[in-house]
Amino acid sequence: MVEDERYKEERQRMIDRLRGLGVRKEVLEAMKRVKRHLFVPPELRDQAYGDYPLPIGDGQTISAPHMVAMMCDYLDLEKGDRVLEIGAGSGYHAAVIAELIGKNGCVYTVERLPSLVEYSRRNLRAAGYMNVMVVLGDGSLGLPEHAPFDRICVTCAAPDVPPPLIEQLKTGGKMVIPIGRYIQVLYLVEKKNGIEKRSKNEVVFVPLIGRFGFR
Ligand code: SAH
Repeated sequence: MVEDERYKEERQRMIDRLRGLGVRKEVLEAMKRVKRHLFVPPELRDQAYGDYPLPIGDGQTISAPHMVAMMCDYLDLEKGDRVLEIGAGSGYHAAVIAELIGKNGCVYTVERLPSLVEYSRRNLRAAGYMNVMVVLGDGSLGLPEHAPFDRICVTCAAPDVPPPLIEQLKTGGKMVIPIGRYIQVLYLVEKKNGIEKRSKNEVVFVPLIGRFGFR
């Protein structure tokens, strides 16, 4: 399809621009395979490959491509990983994770807004991702019935690391999470003998609303 070719070229240009970030090549290869234009509202498709967030309805946004790239890079995703994402939104970030963990891995992504549960499910199905499960609920509680997880990716800003997420992370596991209300910092949390928390970048995310989030 002619349109598909045009988006492919735009996607390649997006990848070329992201090279400056210095993320692992596997991350860029995964992003090259995900059709981001299938995860934005139809009227915004022509902007799908710009490096900025876009509105997806209900006051929420699909994160900018460089943010998705950096978070996936910090997480060090491996084939076969079992991953929990908080904030399905458009489903795009979950699709990139699915590419990185391969057919033997699986992604559970929790979303609190029913409209976006439906939206992300539809987008993921249209783009062909079968190993991503979208679950309606408060992600600050994690997903105990599917725990433990190798990796946890929080895509909304929390007041602090929700204790259930620490509990549901495997020993040796990693989590990325933006923390703060106005000034937000992205943290990489590693569960070893204890909990190691390292600050990375200043970021801007919509708030995590829930039991261990903002109210
Ligand atoms: N990862 C998304 C970006 C999501 S924006 C993407 O790739 O498009 C953050 C999302 O987190 C929003 O959809 C918001 O509704 C959701 N959210 C906020 N608080 C939440 C909570 N407690 N549990 C689950 N989802 C939450």
